[in-house]
Amino acid sequence: MSQYKKNIINQEKLESPIDFRSDTVTLPSNEMLASIDNTKLGDDVYQEDIEVIELQEYAANLLGKEASLFFPSGTQSNLTAMLAHCQRGDEVLIGRHYHTNVYEARGVSVLGGVGICPIDTSASGSMKVSDMLSQIKDNDPHYAVTKLLCLENTFSGKVQPQQELDALAKAAHSKGLKVHLDGARLFNAHIHSGLTLKALTESFDSISICLSKGLGAPIGSLLVSDQATINRALRLRKMLGGGMRQVGVIAAYGMYALKNNVKRLQEDHDNAKYLASGLSSLSELTIDYGENQTNMVFVDCPKQHRESLGKHLFDRNIIISNLDRGRLVCHLGISKKDILVVIGAFKDYFKNI
Ligand SMILES: *Cc1c(COP(=O)(O)O)cnc(C)c1O
Repeated sequence: MSQYKKNIINQEKLESPIDFRSDTVTLPSNEMLASIDNTKLGDDVYQEDIEVIELQEYAANLLGKEASLFFPSGTQSNLTAMLAHCQRGDEVLIGRHYHTNVYEARGVSVLGGVGICPIDTSASGSMKVSDMLSQIKDNDPHYAVTKLLCLENTFSGKVQPQQELDALAKAAHSKGLKVHLDGARLFNAHIHSGLTLKALTESFDSISICLSKGLGAPIGSLLVSDQATINRALRLRKMLGGGMRQVGVIAAYGMYALKNNVKRLQEDHDNAKYLASGLSSLSELTIDYGENQTNMVFVDCPKQHRESLGKHLFDRNIIISNLDRGRLVCHLGISKKDILVVIGAFKDYFKNI
């Protein structure tokens, strides 16, 4: 095992590293930490925590839906949505590379008895209406009942063309399916596209948003939908162990994030673009940062350099997940000045080989 990996595993903590692994690594600011109003706290399983109630109402209004529900994670929010829309033996259509298909341990199948039918997508994450429709099963006892389509925006940081998402939702609805959007990074799509949150979510029956990604809250996601779906979700969340008590202590941070950290996502997109252009001057690297990309830069580094470059960067206080994946994620913990340092460190490495 490389020294670089050992250092991470041993939690040898770097002094305020420039950490590109994910936009989940952000730490709460003092202002965020000070935003809790103790007088509002209560037991949220009794629905008596005003911080949580206000956050849920605020999020539902932002997206133009009837109601929302606070969750400890996006995985539990997506799982609950899928379970709320499906019964045992039903099937959900999901893009092959989407988070709900790949990174959520197939919870909907394991815990809910709901099958997943993956649909091919392009490298940019888009799904063809015809590919999706071809997987909706006929009403025939040989088949599972196709109940739900699950989409994702942004996908790998890429904003999905809204017309395509709307067309997919329309086609699925015309076949009687419900449509759920995994909008873990919906706010990045909002800032990049200039579309309102309502325009981005109008076509969907339910949407999951993460407060713990670019918005910079330490914990939390919200499922946003109509009241009947949220009522079902409330029981399912309890069943999954997601009923939390005085959880206003984290909902307050989520509210702070929604009120203060949305517009600033533009800085992350600007930083990512700047990083991409700085790194593209290095002939050894291939940089992927397209028009529709938001806060992620993908770096294709020759195999023989991956480990040593990773170590070179780590020694300079820069953490990247690994250069096999080559994903560098910008977030509120990374400044323009940091980007300059990082570009310098990459250049340094290739100058000396
Ligand atoms: C992070 C993420 C989620 C939810 O992840 P949690 O870590 O469970 O909060 C869901 N979908 C996408 C696309 C994500 O990036």
